[in-house]
Amino acid sequence: MSVAVVLFTSDLRLHDNPVLRSALRDADRVVPLFVRDDAVHRAGFDAPNRLAFLADCLADLDAGLRRRGGRLILRRGEVAAEVRRVAVETGARSVHMAAGVSRYAARREQELREALAGTGCGTRVHDAVVTALPPGRVVPTGRDHFAVFTPYFRRWEAAGMRGTLTAPRAVPVPDGVAGEPLPARDDVEGVSPGLAAGGEEAGRKLVASWLNGAVADYVEGHDDLAGDATSRLSPHLHFGTVSAAELAHRAREKGGPGAEAFVRQLAWRDFHHQVLAARPDASWSDYRPRHDRWRHDEDEITAWRTGRTGFPLVDAAMRQLAHEGWMHNRGRMLAASFLTKTLYVDWRVGARHFLDLLVDGDVANNQLNWQWVAGTGTDTRPNRVLNPVIQGKRFDARGDYVRRWVPELAELDGAAIHEPWKLQGLDRARLEYPDPVVDLAEARARFEHARGLD
Ligand SMILES: Cc1cc2nc3c(=O)[nH]c(=O)nc-3n(C[C@H](O)[C@H](O)[C@H](O)COP(=O)(O)OP(=O)(O)OC[C@H]3O[C@@H](n4cnc5c(N)ncnc54)[C@H](O)[C@@H]3O)c2cc1C
Repeated sequence: MSVAVVLFTSDLRLHDNPVLRSALRDADRVVPLFVRDDAVHRAGFDAPNRLAFLADCLADLDAGLRRRGGRLILRRGEVAAEVRRVAVETGARSVHMAAGVSRYAARREQELREALAGTGCGTRVHDAVVTALPPGRVVPTGRDHFAVFTPYFRRWEAAGMRGTLTAPRAVPVPDGVAGEPLPARDDVEGVSPGLAAGGEEAGRKLVASWLNGAVADYVEGHDDLAGDATSRLSPHLHFGTVSAAELAHRAREKGGPGAEAFVRQLAWRDFHHQVLAARPDASWSDYRPRHDRWRHDEDEITAWRTGRTGFPLVDAAMRQLAHEGWMHNRGRMLAASFLTKTLYVDWRVGARHFLDLLVDGDVANNQLNWQWVAGTGTDTRPNRVLNPVIQGKRFDARGDYVRRWVPELAELDGAAIHEPWKLQGLDRARLEYPDPVVDLAEARARFEHARGLD
């Protein structure tokens, strides 16, 4: 009997999983393994919202494996040491895993290869599991990655993607492999009250309802904050309960302007991954340094974190983040622009806070989108500043998004709700809502001066 280990990482699914499929081809039995890595904990990356979502994903993966005659083995510790232990215990000849793009993923892969050296067990790392197209698959002449999205997208669109794989019918697992009990979502403390449910089944249902319905209105609806008309698939893509490649295929089959615009967003995800794969230090270092001498005012940062800046749209977005562990993309752009350009605070401060709360918190997407907004990343217009009042009138014209998340302003109508400081006398005194932390015109002048634009 031959045995292979399937090390699940950011691919917590049975459908369209090249890692699982090739392990099953390789061996008579497989050990489906997930290791709760101490290194993730040490890095402070195990935020409660992601841990709770992960608990759902692991429970669902285990249930799916059991329906196929197997089960999930959970271990805790250092990944390389735990995988080695399992490989030696079961006499496995190969370990299969997905390729990652972060420095952490590269180190994990390296440590695993070292740990398995001399055991007779090889490592097989699979591409196009986490992203639709593997990083490096399309590159500009003479460079190792694309630094601008539009030319990347042209090549991405034309490149052939691997075909979709079905879920296996049976997953035979060797007897007697010990594992820990799976974590329960309810045991995680500090979880946002409105956190979505995780797991492959929930993810596949969401894909089906999205592609059969709202994707058709994506072009008009994707920026409407109150309409909440984006897919909300980001946590599923982050944990791999939904496959990016399968999603891109299915959206293309669906066709139409909405589905095409949606596929373009999936390409943005791949784009950031290929940047990080080529420049792993971009997770915390400026991709394009602008010689910023960031300000650091703890009161202003606290006002931003807690949704009390006095700018209704920024505050609504920050409160959505706290309540759901998720934020609308338009809100993310505005909240990040406000911190980095209006308050002129280091993007790393904001990125850290997002990582502490976002259920889809992802090194590639979070850090590189923060850099994009801060103008230290790949944006070709690095000094644009989003104005929260103009953004409010444009993307929350009736004020419904602000009303939903900032109840202190619920009685104000569309126009006033984005500029409550303009109210006079008693109307203003009655509002239990802070005054703006900053004057927008002064803040813009400060930023332009700092970037040498005046
Ligand atoms: C400051 C900032 C931080 C962000 N942090 C993250 C993060 O940690 N994790 C994350 O997944 N996304 C992040 N994004 C990107 C984007 O905001 C979210 O992916 C999106 O809001 C998720 O909602 P959705 O699934 O409904 O998106 P949809 O509009 O339905 O898009 C579908 C998918 O496309 C991908 N996508 C969409 N926009 C982007 C983008 N700009 N960059 C990369 N991928 C994109 C996502 O995987 C998303 O799920 C960030 C954006 C900004 C401006």
